[in-house]
Amino acid sequence: MLGLMQNRPLLISSLIEHANACHPGTEIVSRTVEGPIHRCTYGDIHRRSKQVANALTALGVEPGDRIATLAWNGYRHMELYFGVSGMGAVLHTINPRLFPEQIEYIVNHAEDQYLFFDLSFAPLVAKLAPAFRSVKGFVAMTDRAHMPAIDVPNLNCYEELVEAQSPEYAWPALDENTASSLCYTSGTTGHPKGVLYSHRSTVLHSFAVCAADGIGLGSAECALLVVPMFHVNAWGTPYAGAMCGARLVMPGPGLDGKSVYELMRDEKVTLALGVPTVWLMLFKHVDENRLAPKRELSLQRVVIGGSAAPQAMCEKFDSDFGAFVVHAWGMTEMSPLGTICNLLPKHASFTARQRLDVQKKQGRTIFGVELKIVDGEGRRLPHDGVAFGHLMARGPWVTSGYFGDSEALLDNEGYFDTGDVATIDADGYMQITDRSKDVIKSGGEWISSIDLENAAVGHPAVAEAAVIGVPHEKWQERPLLIVVPKQGHEVSHDELLAFLEGKVAKWWLPDDVVFVDELPHTATGKLQKLKLREQFRDYRLPERAA
Ligand code: AMP
Repeated sequence: MLGLMQNRPLLISSLIEHANACHPGTEIVSRTVEGPIHRCTYGDIHRRSKQVANALTALGVEPGDRIATLAWNGYRHMELYFGVSGMGAVLHTINPRLFPEQIEYIVNHAEDQYLFFDLSFAPLVAKLAPAFRSVKGFVAMTDRAHMPAIDVPNLNCYEELVEAQSPEYAWPALDENTASSLCYTSGTTGHPKGVLYSHRSTVLHSFAVCAADGIGLGSAECALLVVPMFHVNAWGTPYAGAMCGARLVMPGPGLDGKSVYELMRDEKVTLALGVPTVWLMLFKHVDENRLAPKRELSLQRVVIGGSAAPQAMCEKFDSDFGAFVVHAWGMTEMSPLGTICNLLPKHASFTARQRLDVQKKQGRTIFGVELKIVDGEGRRLPHDGVAFGHLMARGPWVTSGYFGDSEALLDNEGYFDTGDVATIDADGYMQITDRSKDVIKSGGEWISSIDLENAAVGHPAVAEAAVIGVPHEKWQERPLLIVVPKQGHEVSHDELLAFLEGKVAKWWLPDDVVFVDELPHTATGKLQKLKLREQFRDYRLPERAA
């Protein structure tokens, strides 16, 4: 017998309709590429996203067409989030930090029809335009006065295009499984792969972002989205913001420590979300200018994901900012939320140090995501916080396959292999120990490169650290620690190894330490281990090694 409840589809257009009905005056604050801070409201975004839908219709865009963006976080990008998906087209957000050849590949692979771009990317667009096979026209996300002088076919001005249209538009009643947006992963090998989200997956994921044991986004929050809208939809926060009416602050191209700090201070930001790299830049600015964030800012929580939040980062946010770090894990293939590290009532009696030990884990699943860890043969491993294995996930916002790729991705229970290696403890807290391809295999045992890196960045003279496995005659692989020292600080090889002693198992201690000026990063700010392994391919460990 079927229930008798209404079968209303879960649509992205319903999110902005709700925001307009319940939070029309709540602000969206954006630092613009043109310079000034721009203020608008959910009511404005609602009106203009309908104008966007009308403009796309006038351009001949059909349901299912892919519409690309090369843009920072800002109100115009948000209008496209709702306007493009709301009218039934697919918003393809492109990461501008990808290599130009990768951008060319994904635009052609996605068969994008139009490309909207922020002014910062005008030179890139001009350079790549001849290689884009499907793009019928380009839209510069600016007004007439700031139009770039580039030679690309069918160049339009966003403000003219939008303002010429009526704000009257009836969102189509789409099937909730209709594709809504597309994001390519910046894999370290092979071509990028497209993850195709649906209206249903996006709305369900938004509930998880707003849930108290999720990110807990709500109307009382002023959220700074440092996490880019071109990478996994800024962790779904633009949609979730509309769902709950949170005030959103968008940093535009200003991701340096000074710009982020000033936005936090001036806009009284309570919740900030971003990857560890941006917080390192913020810390540098605070330290160099001897600022007093605890006094000057209203920051209460910082959500950190994308790569592991080092313990030292959690401590610094706590001591200097009075802000609690919520560690989160996910991936493009998971919309991205997989786990969130909120504390349980029993942790209230923990000491600060014990709490940090929980916080450094990637957290527990929210309803909707199921996790398991398995060994090399696919057998489930115990959730005892010790056994580590391949982390597998399933759920309504986890991918079932890549766009335009027929390869079967899921195991016989419907789980997707995340490519991460992790432990899960009895309370359900998951901890990433490595990427499957980065784990160091020493004498048949696994050494977690992430644990070693986290321990190393706890040293006050270390700005960044990476650990890779290098070949070893007896042990197959041994860890090599590669360190970027903080400016103006010095630390020796022996000091660092002595510092690590006691923090990790003795046999995990790196066999050598090398110092470098910088480490290679991927387009999404992750350490590029593949490149490091290439760079240190001919490296020989010292004789005394293990
Ligand atoms: P992406 O799809 O580019 O967002 O990358 C997803 C990958 O980033 C995951 O599979 C993890 O390897 C890594 N990752 C994301 N969040 C974390 C985290 N909190 N700690 C460690 N690794 C993370």
